[in-house]
Amino acid sequence: MNAPKPVRVRFAPSPTGYLHVGGARTALFNWLYARSQKGTFILRIEDTDQERSTQESYQAILDGMNWLGMDWDEGPGRGGDFGPYLQSERLPIYREHLEKLATEGHAYRCFCSPEDLAAREKAVTDAGGQWEGYDGKCRDLDPAEASKLEAEGKPFAWRLRTPTDGSTFWYDIVVDKREFQNEVLVDRVIFKADGFPTYQFACVVDDHLMGITHVLRGDDHVSNTPFQILIYQALGWNLPKFGHMPMILGPDRKRLSKRHGATSVQEFQKQGIIPEAMMNYLALLGWSPGGNADEVMTREALIKKFSLKKVNSSPGAFDYDKLAHINSEQIKRKSPEERHALAAGVLAEHGWRMDPEWKIHNATDSDTYLARILKTLGNRFSSLITLPEQIGFFYTDDHWRDDEAWPSAVQGPENVQALTALADALEAELDMDQPQPAEAFENVTRALAGKLEIKAGALIHPSRVALTGQLRSAGIFEVMELVGLRRSLARLRRAASLS
Ligand code: GLU
Repeated sequence: MNAPKPVRVRFAPSPTGYLHVGGARTALFNWLYARSQKGTFILRIEDTDQERSTQESYQAILDGMNWLGMDWDEGPGRGGDFGPYLQSERLPIYREHLEKLATEGHAYRCFCSPEDLAAREKAVTDAGGQWEGYDGKCRDLDPAEASKLEAEGKPFAWRLRTPTDGSTFWYDIVVDKREFQNEVLVDRVIFKADGFPTYQFACVVDDHLMGITHVLRGDDHVSNTPFQILIYQALGWNLPKFGHMPMILGPDRKRLSKRHGATSVQEFQKQGIIPEAMMNYLALLGWSPGGNADEVMTREALIKKFSLKKVNSSPGAFDYDKLAHINSEQIKRKSPEERHALAAGVLAEHGWRMDPEWKIHNATDSDTYLARILKTLGNRFSSLITLPEQIGFFYTDDHWRDDEAWPSAVQGPENVQALTALADALEAELDMDQPQPAEAFENVTRALAGKLEIKAGALIHPSRVALTGQLRSAGIFEVMELVGLRRSLARLRRAASLS
């Protein structure tokens, strides 16, 4: 028996929009399959639709792939032995194969304009019939007549001459045997009047020439596959294996769309989803590691456990809550260094930086400062979206929230007295020019409570709100240490003056 051919798979997006989660999932399954089989993952850009393809979309696709960490072995920016990988740069190759088909009688010129076709469609449907996309009008046009029309400059497209009897079928990796009667397969266009191949034709030529072993794509392409198989057959080529993955549905089990929320990878990125979580969640949509296995998986675990055989043939519904859950689990499981890098990204977005003037105990640079802040948060740091609210007060004095709870916690004569007394005591007891440790704040606070014969809580509670703008926080003396004496005083006095 021959050894199986090394796996070569591809993701072949058309650059006509952002990287949609459906596309990203198709890319991911190809990538996981390639990586798990030690195969080759190819990125091919299908930009033959000149009107709809944009540079912006091309860039968005590359950015999305890079963000998700799906590296390609061949494709834009990487090269490879089977390039170019942009279809718009492969026109002579398609033309050459078209000529072969034309010479052998498998392709014919069609002079029907879009208006002619529309008029015939209308006539058929008005008469209660069904229009399948083409009626074969030019199929039997005398070649001499066709050449004459061409010489006269009449625009024309090329269509594939498909068989009218028998059937076309394949054994799909995901959806099992699929069969179509050839009589229902119309002679679709393979080369357009603008001189560009259609998706159907370019895709087949490239999949063959690029040595693709498995065509794994969304099941919205199931209806294209029989026609593409006929192209393979007309060109005398062997078929790759096909696997069609079910669509992603919204939570209401209707096709996922903007209506349901974010749909592009970029939008999720903006919403604080980290790439590992997005990848993890997309992998689970339509595939599962089985049994009671932990669903939160690293990239390496996904590669190790991925199996094409386990891809589900029924559509998965996008569950935004589950994605959020996986995201927080992924953030929690990261190393302190990785968590630090994630938080640093959030700080940069807000333009937050530590100022040495704050004179923070045991933190003279920004990195140490952030590391100490993250330590106080522990596992409560599990989202990039809530992080600014959780740590913003360390960086900015503009942390007051328009919340109903906090004003009452700092207002009223008792709170004002407590805040003022504490500010006065801290100012009197501690050296403003020296970084102060938590114990120093604690000693002054407890001594003051003793002197005033009140519970320490009566000082601590309004101080927490004054310093953090929040009703809950890490230990208040640790907070004071990290906010620093100078800023702590200013915040206590400011809160006292609000009443
Ligand atoms: N360019 C096609 C698309 O974006 C690719 C389909 C395929 O994978 O064959 O839908």
